[in-house]
Amino acid sequence: MAKVFVFLEGNNQDLKKGSLELLTAAKASGREVVAGLVGPGVKALAPKAAHYGAQTTFVCDAAELGHYNPETFTDAVTAMVKDSGADVVLASSSVLARDLFPRVAARLDSGVASDCTILKLDGGTVTVRKPLYSGKCTAEVEFVNSPVKIVLMRPNQLPVGQPDAAATAQTKDFPAPAASGKIKTKDLVKGSSSKTDLAEANIIVAGGRGMGSAENFKQLEDLANALGATVGASRAVADAGWVPHSMQVGQTGKTVAPSLYIAFGISGAIQHLAGMSGSKVIVAVNKDGDAPIFQKATYGLVGDLFELAPKLTEEFKKALHK
Ligand SMILES: Cc1cc2nc3c(=O)[nH]c(=O)nc-3n(C[C@H](O)[C@H](O)[C@H](O)COP(=O)(O)OP(=O)(O)OC[C@H]3O[C@@H](n4cnc5c(N)ncnc54)[C@H](O)[C@@H]3O)c2cc1C
Repeated sequence: MAKVFVFLEGNNQDLKKGSLELLTAAKASGREVVAGLVGPGVKALAPKAAHYGAQTTFVCDAAELGHYNPETFTDAVTAMVKDSGADVVLASSSVLARDLFPRVAARLDSGVASDCTILKLDGGTVTVRKPLYSGKCTAEVEFVNSPVKIVLMRPNQLPVGQPDAAATAQTKDFPAPAASGKIKTKDLVKGSSSKTDLAEANIIVAGGRGMGSAENFKQLEDLANALGATVGASRAVADAGWVPHSMQVGQTGKTVAPSLYIAFGISGAIQHLAGMSGSKVIVAVNKDGDAPIFQKATYGLVGDLFELAPKLTEEFKKALHK
């Protein structure tokens, strides 16, 4: 039976939503599903991989894999893909995967398509669609003469299936590859936010230059807390130092695709739209009725955000926390 290898990523001792989406798609394809996990403590995630469709899970679980190292991760994942015999590899288009999989593809003499939004796995053919030129157009890409087809999907594009708590999978351990020592991550400093990462968030409340100051972002934090959302920002705001660059959405920031994106005081420059136009519902709040963001918005509120943000927060609190 044809096989698909799914590279899984975890967060806070759980599989990321993007990984569950990929397992669901792999299972629905009717192929045999082999999952791969790399990092310290990842073996604990193997049962959940089975619940979502993995029939076999390859595990490279070692303390020295705590910090991403392109050399050791490339060795580990290449060994897993070769061992699996899969001709299709799926991974989330995360920062880690976009660094890792071109290296794996080179080892396997194969093609890789990143940042994909649509995946078709029909028999032996793999076709994907991906945005180009900051989302001005999309391209359909088919793999030709590629022994292994590597697809990196944007998170939040595919449904997550119902888990089968009774499902079990075989696991196979892989040894941690030896590091060449060419590079070494010495320290990793975590950000202060306990919120869901922007790229994975289901709801995003974002602020632009119209917020006026760093302090005013408190209003968006309040709204985000009421909604269970993550706060994002335009580049103008990150460049001004009001928020860290990790919160920037757009061409040179993060690409997001939440169910709901609420933009406050963001004009809608093409570079910002490039990062968020895949959102399912876009709400724009801007005092300028001609702001370009309204052309992309599902719903628009023309008015002063300092009046509208607190009102929205109150209404959402009433509606959601009765
Ligand atoms: C190579 C390159 C890459 C870039 N990458 C990115 C990127 O990744 N992400 C990104 O965001 N930008 C990016 N930019 C910058 C982009 O071109 C814009 O400059 C930026 O997005 C503007 O941010 P803004 O909408 O917050 O600010 P502005 O364009 O200044 O818009 C502020 C908006 O707030 C509204 N406003 C003001 N006060 C209020 C109020 N009280 N109530 C309601 N509305 C109000 C105004 O009407 C206005 O529409 C990039 C630019 C370049 C050249």
